[in-house]
Amino acid sequence: MAFGWIDEQAELRRRAGLVRTLRPRPAGTPLLDLASNDYLSLARHPEVTEGAARAARTWGGGATGSRLVTGTTELHAELERELAGFCGFEAALVFSSGYAANLAAVTALAPHGSLIVSDAGNHASLIDGCRLARGTTQVVAHSDPDAVRKALGGHDGPAVAVSDTVFSVDGDAAPLAGLAEACREYGAGLVLDDAHGLGVLGDGGRGAPHAAGVAGAGDVVVTVTLSKSLGSQGGAVLGPARVIEHLVNAARTFIFDTGLAPAAAGAALAALRLLRREPARAARAGAVARELYGRLTAAGLEAVRPDAAVVSVRAPSPEQAVRWAADCRAAGLSVGCFRPPSVPDGISRLRLTARADLSGAEIERAVRVIGETRP
Ligand code: PMP
Repeated sequence: MAFGWIDEQAELRRRAGLVRTLRPRPAGTPLLDLASNDYLSLARHPEVTEGAARAARTWGGGATGSRLVTGTTELHAELERELAGFCGFEAALVFSSGYAANLAAVTALAPHGSLIVSDAGNHASLIDGCRLARGTTQVVAHSDPDAVRKALGGHDGPAVAVSDTVFSVDGDAAPLAGLAEACREYGAGLVLDDAHGLGVLGDGGRGAPHAAGVAGAGDVVVTVTLSKSLGSQGGAVLGPARVIEHLVNAARTFIFDTGLAPAAAGAALAALRLLRREPARAARAGAVARELYGRLTAAGLEAVRPDAAVVSVRAPSPEQAVRWAADCRAAGLSVGCFRPPSVPDGISRLRLTARADLSGAEIERAVRVIGETRP
């Protein structure tokens, strides 16, 4: 029978208690949310939803075509200008997702004969970019500029190092200044995924590369998502104008994909303007994460010290992680659960996200529920 092997895989998943299920989120949910990536609580902000609605009324429900045909509106151009200016780059290019932006940046900057040096903790979308690229990938030790140096030193030809700025599983930050220095020594480019840094790190949320002083450098390219702190959907690549022009001409996920929906561009633009006006929101998400971490460790839970808004709590086994998250949910708390195969290191975790508007009482309640339901 066709696809018979699928049933075998499903059976293995069932036996291990690791079946993934889609659960529609009820509107106006009474659950306390420590699972979404809405770090600045902007997804439902009236200015953001109005930005989406106005854009849809003006430009329609969809972009109607690829960016190079009919899918570029004034809104896309405005968003690109403002994103680049805010984060400290010469130019930006908006994509339909952060995933597509990462595929574009890695594939378009790693031609045949090139070397891609990829951090062992990188997000799946960077890994997939490496898999699709014509260059050869070498995976190196996590957050280790010397490992990057060693890999670059053994290669003759174009090279690029790729890394998350804040790793999505444990929430730890990459050593950006060290990575940039290593790349510069060998004339290599550096591609950084700032999905979890934008809106949280740097002056007023300008992102981790801005905070590390590497934004705007001629050899640094940054990708972001519009779907986390900006409360919308979509992604972007930021970098030197010549790199952005290259992507317009060479990046397949830009050329052959329908443009970002106007509503998403409008929402992201409204969120970006809000963040410019209210820069304190960014620092607040980080402060909430640190408070959450302090209370979790005080309660005897094994958490990873957060560098941004993600707080990871270790679970004893994949099965117990899944049950722990379900028990939290039953007690009114929504948390993320990362376990193999999503995390290749075999360590299962609850993944908590700090939102800027979580109150002290809500943080306390979350820690109490996590403590009471621990396996
Ligand atoms: N990079 C990282 C580090 C992420 O966590 C994510 C989202 N999970 C992405 C890229 C993909 O972004 P998007 O959801 O906009 O496709």
